[in-house]
Amino acid sequence: MITRRRAFLQENIMIVASDNHERASETQSPSWQHQLSHAIRDPKVLCQRLGLDETWLKGAQTGHKLFEVRVPDAYLNRIAYSAPHDPLLRQVLPLGDETLAPAGYVTDPLEEADHRPARGLIHKYAGRVLLIASPTCAVNCRYCFRRHFPYSENSPSRAQWQEALDYLRGDVSIHEAILSGGDPLAASDRQLAWLVNELEHIPHLKRLRIHTRLPVVIPDRVDSALLEWLGNTRLQKVMVLHINHANEIDQAVVDACARLKAAGVTLLNQSVLLRGVNDEVNTLAALSERLFEAGILPYYLHVLDPVQGAAHFDVPDDEARALVSKLREHLPGFLMPRLVREIPGEASKTPL
Ligand SMILES: *Cc1c(COP(=O)(O)O)cnc(C)c1O
Ligand code: SF4
Repeated sequence: MITRRRAFLQENIMIVASDNHERASETQSPSWQHQLSHAIRDPKVLCQRLGLDETWLKGAQTGHKLFEVRVPDAYLNRIAYSAPHDPLLRQVLPLGDETLAPAGYVTDPLEEADHRPARGLIHKYAGRVLLIASPTCAVNCRYCFRRHFPYSENSPSRAQWQEALDYLRGDVSIHEAILSGGDPLAASDRQLAWLVNELEHIPHLKRLRIHTRLPVVIPDRVDSALLEWLGNTRLQKVMVLHINHANEIDQAVVDACARLKAAGVTLLNQSVLLRGVNDEVNTLAALSERLFEAGILPYYLHVLDPVQGAAHFDVPDDEARALVSKLREHLPGFLMPRLVREIPGEASKTPL
C-alpha cells in the first residue's frame, strides 16, 4: 500500500503539470480509475493549482502530515480560484488547526472498534450491518470521523470476507447490508460484483445500501461496469450520497444521478454540519433544493463527530437546532434532513 501510494504521488507530480481544466466530453474523459490515481496528493500542488499563498501552504503541510491530502481534478474544478474560504475547499484543504486537540476529541469517536464481530464488518444497529468494502476514498475530507480508522486491519481479501459472510448468513434478523469504507465505490467493479453476488444469495437480505461520495467526487465512477452489477441484483438498492454544499452538484453529478436512478437506485443524501462550509440557513436550503433537482432526497444532517483534528469544524448543538428550526421555515417537509448525532452505545442515530 505504502509503495503504491508513493508511486501515485510521483506520477501525480508529473501529470499535474500537463493537465488542463477543461472537462472532456463523455467519451473522451479518462476512466474513473485514472482520475482517482491522478488525484492531487501533495499540499504544494493543491495550493499552486488554486492560487493559495505561503500561509495556506504551511498549514496544509502541517495538516497533511496528520491525514494526507487527496483531491481529484473533477472535484478541484468546482472550487473557485484564489478563494481560501470556498466551501468545497474548506472540506479538503488541510490546516494547521488540525493539530489542536481539545478535550473530548478522540481518534475513534464512535467506538466502532467495539462492534466488529468479524473482519470488515460493523454491527451496531438491529437489522443492518456495515461492510468495510474499501479502505480508501476518492477524496480525503478533513472532518472525517474515520480519519484514524485502522483500515489495514479491516480491508479483507476475498477469502477473508468469508468470516463476514458467514456472520450474515447466520443472523436472519439482518435484512440490509450497507457497503461503506473508506468509500466502497473505490473498490473495483469486479470485487464489488463478486461481493454483491455473495450477498444476494443470502435469502434474508432484502436491501443493499451503498454509502458513497464517489459519484459526487468523480461522477465518471457511474459507468457501465458499475451499472451492470448494480442494475442486475435482486436486492433493493439504496445509495446514500454525501454532499455538504450545493456547489458540489454540477451537471456531471446530475447526469450520474440520472444514470443511477435509471438503474433503479433510490438516492438519499447525508451531510455533516460544518463551520465555514454549510452553517447558514440559506446554504442548507440551497443544498436541499439542489439535491432535489438532482433527484436526491435529504436524509441526515449529522453534527460533527468529535474526531481529533476536526474541532475547528464544530457547530454547537444549540446553534445546530436553531439553524434547523429556521430551515424548516424555508423548505417543504420532504426536503428537511433529520438532524442527528451518533452517540456510542445507542441503538440508532440520536435525533437532536
Ligand atoms: C449509521 C450506521 C448505520 C445506518 O444507520 P441508519 O440510521 O439506518 O442510516 C448502520 N450501521 C452503523 C454501524 C452505522 O454507523
Ligand atoms: S469520503 Fe467519507 S469516509 Fe472518505 S474521507 Fe470523506 S467523509 Fe471520510
